[in-house]
Amino acid sequence: MTAPLLDVRAVSRFFGGFPAVADVSLQVREGEILGIAGPNGAGKSTLFNLVSGVPFGPSRGEVWFDGRRVDRLAASRISRAGLRRTFQSEQLFPALTVLDNVLVAAAYLGGGGIFGHRARRAEAERALETAGISGYAADLAGDVPLLVKKKLMIASALVARPRLLMLDEPAGGLNTEDQRELTELLRGLNAAGLTLLIIEHVLSLLRELAGRMIVLTAGSVLVEGTPREVLSDPRVMEAYLGE
Ligand code: ADP
Ligand code: MG
Repeated sequence: MTAPLLDVRAVSRFFGGFPAVADVSLQVREGEILGIAGPNGAGKSTLFNLVSGVPFGPSRGEVWFDGRRVDRLAASRISRAGLRRTFQSEQLFPALTVLDNVLVAAAYLGGGGIFGHRARRAEAERALETAGISGYAADLAGDVPLLVKKKLMIASALVARPRLLMLDEPAGGLNTEDQRELTELLRGLNAAGLTLLIIEHVLSLLRELAGRMIVLTAGSVLVEGTPREVLSDPRVMEAYLGE
């Protein structure tokens, strides 16, 4: 078997004495969709933070991406290595246009200028097209519908052509129809070769998309398996009932 694209080895993150993430290991293989579920406060977002280095790596453990140890690298370098993530809340510039939001993301990644301005613009337009929101390019990001904001965050992550995209509750706040549209976008991105790691509270999205799932509770992995196995596990039901 080839090495996993992402290899998270026994990572922990403490806040004060409290372990928000405790000794979590997981692997994401190239081309797959791995889902992460779990009740509020389980440590899902903290896990993404420490993998992406925002704002820091793990207190303990190691993160390997594409055969390289990355847990001591700055977040911008991890991004440039091809690992991108979105945030749970809408992190965008409401007073900038949709296109300019993606250009800001491209400029952040461009750093030393692998991209000139014209190339950045072409990449940004391509990312909007891939996310299906070219028609909103000139609109202010603060004024577009929630689904478009969600797609804009994905476009901003896509602009650097990542190999792994980590999404933190991408369907949060969406109605059922919009959830379905987002599911189709993610399915298409994966079919085009993008590996996905998705935290989601909307379990139907993971049931449809994920090849494997992990459920976190209290900072640790409770169960791991196919969506069918995981979602029928009584321990998972119990974990959610406590919410
Ligand atoms: P989830 O995303 O699964 O809802 P989080 O990762 O956001 O959970 O949070 C896990 C736990 O860590 C929670 O108890 C939360 O209050 C705590 N936590 C998260 N970030 C911080 C922080 N910066 N400082 C202190 N505690 C934090
Ligand atoms: Mg969270």
